[in-house]
Amino acid sequence: MVDFRLSEEQEALVASVREFAREQVAPVIAEHYEKKTFPYDVVRQMGKMGLFGLPFAEEHGGMGGDYFALCLALEELARVDSSVAITLEAGVSLGAMPIYRFGTDAQKAAWLPRLTSGEALAAFGLTEPGTGSDAAATTTRAVLDEQTNEWVINGSKAFITNSGTDITCLVTVMAVTGPKELSTIIVPSGTPGFTVAPGYSKVGWCASDTHELAFDDVRVPAANLLGERGRGFAQFLRILDEGRIAIAALAVGLAQGCVDESVKYAKERQAFGRPIGNYQAVQFMIADMEMRAHTARLAYYEAASRMLAGEDFKHQAALAKLYASEAAMDNARYATQVHGGYGFMNESAVGRFYRDAKILEIGEGTSEVQRMIIARGLGL
Ligand SMILES: Cc1cc2nc3c(=O)[nH]c(=O)nc-3n(C[C@H](O)[C@H](O)[C@H](O)COP(=O)(O)OP(=O)(O)OC[C@H]3O[C@@H](n4cnc5c(N)ncnc54)[C@H](O)[C@@H]3O)c2cc1C
Repeated sequence: MVDFRLSEEQEALVASVREFAREQVAPVIAEHYEKKTFPYDVVRQMGKMGLFGLPFAEEHGGMGGDYFALCLALEELARVDSSVAITLEAGVSLGAMPIYRFGTDAQKAAWLPRLTSGEALAAFGLTEPGTGSDAAATTTRAVLDEQTNEWVINGSKAFITNSGTDITCLVTVMAVTGPKELSTIIVPSGTPGFTVAPGYSKVGWCASDTHELAFDDVRVPAANLLGERGRGFAQFLRILDEGRIAIAALAVGLAQGCVDESVKYAKERQAFGRPIGNYQAVQFMIADMEMRAHTARLAYYEAASRMLAGEDFKHQAALAKLYASEAAMDNARYATQVHGGYGFMNESAVGRFYRDAKILEIGEGTSEVQRMIIARGLGL
């Protein structure tokens, strides 16, 4: 059976996040973006709404929903702003999820209640200054000091989202722990030797938090190993496969936001004595934008439904992420065109969409990496 309609509960979630994005995010985000400040108030409110707990079980402070619910919320947020959406995506899918999926009972009890309530954020430390797509080439090392029963970590990580906010409590670090052996280790914020560089100056996602991290003889207890030793690579791959569905949802939100803004503007803006929406050239740009947003949405719905059914979803997640991120880029370009000179101004929503779209083709696996996964799935 094929059914793409949302349940009443899902519709209610979409409606409440849509209202929140319109009433609470839209009025404040342009200023945060311009000043490159982190929107703590918005994050606090998202926490109160339960958005950070959406896919987690109630026993861990979650809302008892699923990953698709998270995707629906991300789509609605990104329809208005992507910095806020990526803060939620990285906080849940990259931050809390590794602890939820692979943590011991003690690790879950120690960290999840604060993460699922949005009181604290966790970050995902995979990329390094010298390696991103080729994650197996990780050079950060962790050596077990058997005398003190501690991991001693040395190395650095690059471009890590949510790693330097006032409420960041930990980063999960992928490190080499032996020959051809990668493991994940939880490093709490403030651990001596763990330093967070000042935030990057970014083209987009200007109200989200991104830093380079350095680890200089950082010592954490042996018990901070996440899951089994040597399973780090497999863990990160699982988290990234899921994350690609979430990034696709975020990209659909941006692509749909471009349609929303363009329809509104095309009805208002007059040229040659009529609204520009009367001209077929403008109508066709917007019709194509709607087609891309709609098709990309179906792609992430399908990938999510496979994931929730416990089926293999790697191929579908890569298809959804690739298509949706390219749809977001195209829609941002055409929406800016529809807005003329106003679209090139930083205060316009489409100006932000234009700057925010590009990273979707890079983060959580570049478009080339998605094509590699898809080609491999086809037996090439
Ligand atoms: C704002 C932002 C936030 C981020 N947040 C996080 C985070 O929270 N945690 C984290 O771990 N990382 C994060 N990243 C890192 C992101 O995931 C990487 O930038 C991305 O995976 C690409 O890696 P790279 O930048 O090293 O590019 P590279 O891997 O160096 O790639 C450069 C180019 O070469 C291409 N390329 C590489 N290998 C191949 C190949 N075999 N075939 C064809 N083309 C190839 C790539 O597709 C790309 O076009 C973030 C990045 C940014 C910019």
